[in-house]
Parts: sequence; C-alpha cells; structure tokens
Amino acid sequence: MTWEPVIGLEVHAHLKTRTKMFCRCAVGFGAEPNTQTCPVCLAFPGALPVVNRTAVEWTIKLGLALDCKIAEHAVFSRKNYFYFDNPKGYQISQYDLPSCMNGKMILPTAEGNRAIGIVRAHIEEDAAKTVHVGGRTGRIRGADYSLVDFNRGGTPLVEIVTAPDIRSAEEAKRFLQLLRQTIVELGISDAEMEKGTLRVDANVSVRPEGSDELRTRTELKNMNSFNFVARGIDAEIARQIEVWESGGEVRQETYDFDATTGALTPHRAKEEADDYRYFPEPDLVPVEPPVELVERLRAELPELPAARIRRLEAELDLDRAIVLVTGGLDRLWADSVAEGADKIAVANVIANNLVGAGIDPDAVSAKELARLVKARDRIPRFVFDEAIAKLGEPGFSADPYLAQEAVSDEAELEPIVARILEANPGQVAAYRGGKDGLLGFFVGQVMKETGGKANARVVSELVRARLNAP
Ligand SMILES: [Zn+2]
Repeated sequence: MTWEPVIGLEVHAHLKTRTKMFCRCAVGFGAEPNTQTCPVCLAFPGALPVVNRTAVEWTIKLGLALDCKIAEHAVFSRKNYFYFDNPKGYQISQYDLPSCMNGKMILPTAEGNRAIGIVRAHIEEDAAKTVHVGGRTGRIRGADYSLVDFNRGGTPLVEIVTAPDIRSAEEAKRFLQLLRQTIVELGISDAEMEKGTLRVDANVSVRPEGSDELRTRTELKNMNSFNFVARGIDAEIARQIEVWESGGEVRQETYDFDATTGALTPHRAKEEADDYRYFPEPDLVPVEPPVELVERLRAELPELPAARIRRLEAELDLDRAIVLVTGGLDRLWADSVAEGADKIAVANVIANNLVGAGIDPDAVSAKELARLVKARDRIPRFVFDEAIAKLGEPGFSADPYLAQEAVSDEAELEPIVARILEANPGQVAAYRGGKDGLLGFFVGQVMKETGGKANARVVSELVRARLNAP
C-alpha cells in the first residue's frame, strides 16, 4: 500500500516589541537573569495587565499577510496550569476567539501554487525560561536543581497553526522557510530557530493514498532547525507506516526528535492531556480593531515573498527564485542586475559563493559585486574567491582584484596543456573513449601548474580542442 503523510504545523514566533505583552518590562535576550521583571509579569497580587498595542498590530499585520480574516472581536483567555515557569498559575492567550483566522499561504512549486491553509494566528505570552542543572539530559528528571529566569516570562508570542495540508517533510521545510521570511520582512520578529525566537511543532499522521480520512496523529517537539524538522517528520512517517503495516495502531503521543541519533523518544503520554479550563481573562477588554487600523496595516504590507518568487521565476527559474527570495537575497540580486551583471551568473554567485562565505547581503555593494561578476572569466579563480570573501567589508572596492587579470594568452598556455596531456596518456585514452567528465581533470591539472593564474575558460577550450583533434 502507498501511504500519504498528513502534516500540520504549529509555529511560535517571538514578537520583537520593545516591551512585554502585558507590562512595560523590556524584552531582550542576554540580560542578567531576573532583571527584566515587575509586579505584573511576576504576578504579584493586585497587579493588572495592559495589552501591548504594537503586539496586537503586528499580529494583525501577519494575519493580513497570511490572507486571514481579521476578527472584529478577539478575546484573551486564561489557560490554567500550574508550573514554576508560570507565576500566575495561568497563561494569557487568545483561545476560541483569536485575532486572525481562515487564511492561507501560497507555496510556489514546479506543479503550480500550493495553498497551505492557516487555521489561526493568535497572541499569547511566553512562560519563563527554566534551566535544569545536573543530570544527563538537561531535562528536569535527574537534575540536581532547576533555575528560573523570569525575563522571558510575559514576552509576546504569535502562534500560527496550519491546516493539515502539508504532504511531505520537504514541503514542510519549504513552507517554514517561506513563512519565516515573511515574518522577518514584516519586521515583527527575528524568527531565528537557533535562538529560540521561532519554534516549530509538527503534527504528523499517515493514511492510505487517495483516502481522505484523518488517522491518529502524533506531535513532534523540540526540533531546532528546519532541517531537523524535516528529518524528524521523515522519521515519524516511517515509524507510523511500520506500525500500521505490522498490524498495530498509532497512539496519540508527543515525541522529541534527537537530531544526533535520529531517535524519537516519547515526550509525555497524552492521557495527562490537558484540561486547561480556559475562561475569558476578566482583567482585559476584547481586542476590537477599527476598520481604519486594519486597512492602514493592509496598505503597509510589502510585496510578499511568495509573490516575488513568482515574479523572479520568469527571469531565472523556480529553484533559483526560491533560494534568492527565502534567503533574503533578491534585493541584492536585483540591484546587481541593474548595475549590469548577468542575471543567472550573479544569482549563482550570490546563492553559492556569498552564502557559502556567510556574508550579510545587506553589507554588500551591488555595484562592486556586479563589476566582479562581469570580470569573472578574466580574473583567476582564487582572486575572484578572495574578492567575494571580502565583499562584506566596509568600503570594499573591486579595483585591486580586477587588476589581476588571468593568463589568457594561448601561446603561453598551449605548451602547458600539451605537457599535461602527454603526462596522462591513460586519461586521454579514457576521454577519447567517451569519458567526457575527465575534461575537468585536465583543466584542473593545468590550473595547478599555473598556480591558479590561468583563465579557466581559455584552458578548457584549449584542452578540448587538443583532445578532440584527430
Ligand atoms: Zn513586567
């Protein structure tokens, strides 16, 4: 039987507001623990919350970008649970009446647009950060003691819940990359998984292909990169197929995915599943944004990544367009093309060399990048690479690199080519016998011989001409 994965995602993004969700404490990472607190976020008796206006506006903006219906009447509720990261004994979160509902995000693919449904996007506050000291796993079980940092307690989060519309781990990853880029471009969150400002849980089930039933799903938690999310989902799909095919039954459970071992370990059984006794927060008024506010926020939306991918696809191809846009690289690309660089060549240099060297695209001068790309065939490869590595430095100029022209003089290169071919008769015979891939080997040998200073394109032509000569 062929099985079809059914995947939904729950994404939490930290909003980078200046202050917390319901008090005036600063939001910031890296501050001394428990210095960004006040009676409200420490839940002193009698302290009252006040809604952070910016957090509400940003959530609405995100909802508009995700094509959601914006609620005229949203309500904060109390989600009751007892744990030491939660001094109030409840978390304030939008529940049955969230600010944003029924949206979708378009995922451009080679087979056309895939619409991934957005069930809701709502506001909530984060819990305090706990650190369990001692013990092997870093979890509370087996720890010697636990520490709590209330700086994170009460910071604003937006939670985005997708419909179970995603059909593969790869699609989940591409959706997340596009969602992240959308969030970043709206300027509402840094959305970095490594820093915990973006967190992803995945709900996974499988069903016989062609059926529309929804079987028991499991939840995957604690995956801290998009690649780990994809690997975790793949591992869980394989596990569930094995369970069904061996006559078993998938149980509703939560798993942690360990990226180093690839193992899925049960997180906690759902039978303790949670009865949070939600009820409307009596200390806060409903969120009722005026139409003018919603329309102003809609007018402020930039051209979104999914639309830009489609626009760029017409000039490049879909894969290159996706890499440039989801990497936040397409503005540098467009500016470089405007400076005269070849569209495809500069796209490749940005997507491969620049990203490979870890250079911030915003620090790069499009004009200097365009000059380098235009001269790429004329300067030695290592000089080009050196220049690319320095592109992000302030005041970078391509001049000293462009001055180092590669050796293109055929009279100078011919004898070296001849020597290399003579020294490798076996490879020459193999090439002439049809192993075209050996061309790169010969070119590489000539480049080595010239200390990398030869023009690789000229060398390649010389080698080919000589090998193809009767
Ligand atoms: Zn506070």
